[in-house]
Amino acid sequence: MYSGFHNIHRTTCLLRCMSDIQKMSKLYNNYSDFLRQKFGQRVQKISVNGGFTCPNRDGSKGSGGCTYCNNQSFLPEYCNSELSVLEQIGKGVEFFKKYEAQIYIAYFQSYTNTYGTLQELQTKYEQALSHPKVVGLSIATRPDCVDEQILDYLSFLAKKYYILIEYGVESTDNETLKQINRGHTFDTSVWAINETAKRKIAVGAHLILGLPYQDRRKMLSSAVTISKLPINVLKLHQLQIVKNTLMAKEFEKEPEKFQLFDLEEYINLLIEFIERLDPNITLERFVSQSPYEWLIAPNWGLKNFEFVHKLEKKMRENGSFQGKKFDI
Ligand code: SF4
Repeated sequence: MYSGFHNIHRTTCLLRCMSDIQKMSKLYNNYSDFLRQKFGQRVQKISVNGGFTCPNRDGSKGSGGCTYCNNQSFLPEYCNSELSVLEQIGKGVEFFKKYEAQIYIAYFQSYTNTYGTLQELQTKYEQALSHPKVVGLSIATRPDCVDEQILDYLSFLAKKYYILIEYGVESTDNETLKQINRGHTFDTSVWAINETAKRKIAVGAHLILGLPYQDRRKMLSSAVTISKLPINVLKLHQLQIVKNTLMAKEFEKEPEKFQLFDLEEYINLLIEFIERLDPNITLERFVSQSPYEWLIAPNWGLKNFEFVHKLEKKMRENGSFQGKKFDI
């Protein structure tokens, strides 16, 4: 486990970071601000479908997939695995031209993007990096789908490009991970995160709030647990019940098993979560909105930016900020 809490240097950095957040009237460390500062200009992520599958669906780790998963529900239109990685990036750049983005990070988003031979991964990643406007990669994967060979290769790329591996941690609680059929434990996530950070590759983690067998206390304590790990970027979102998933069937049969948040409850929970979080972690996402035609519940009818606006307003009213209750 990460033991940096006993390190005086780290404590000084944490204190500085907390006071920076307060001084600059910032509510939290925002990932897009981080990227803009790092690259000196606006950076846009472009989703890429690398044509990977998932070991939790094809039987090698499990079958049926995670109970909440319907990958079709979060693919942008320009993502088409029949096109090469480079062609998809070309379409993505065209799509985002209207936002005057200057440079891009190729986001390998769907399924498990390290699930392939090293040679296959090299071909796809290096094709993405060959685009003159692509400055880095963001690679979404499962923590049990990296090994030392893959991490060493990514560490080599990280010397020249910005490389972030985004791990689907989903929960810090093993019972919950079992119930949602993740097919790995939290220890596996801890291992992958530490091995990645050790190689100076940026680490991202993804957590879902509101999964079965989670109460408020457990969710808030996961902010503390996650803060003990060398994570650079965190994505959070509320549990959504999406059509064509195992969870949708469970929900139909036993809706009382699920405690879906209403908007107000979720905002309040998030604020408390963010207050307990290490102020050095940058936050990339707070909410997810599956397309209306896929979503069963909860349906808040809000776009992401509208949600963020509400969250920030409430944080300001409460005098809240990231790390306010972080226990150094
Ligand atoms: S959430 Fe990820 S790991 Fe789980 S089934 Fe879907 S693609 Fe596979």
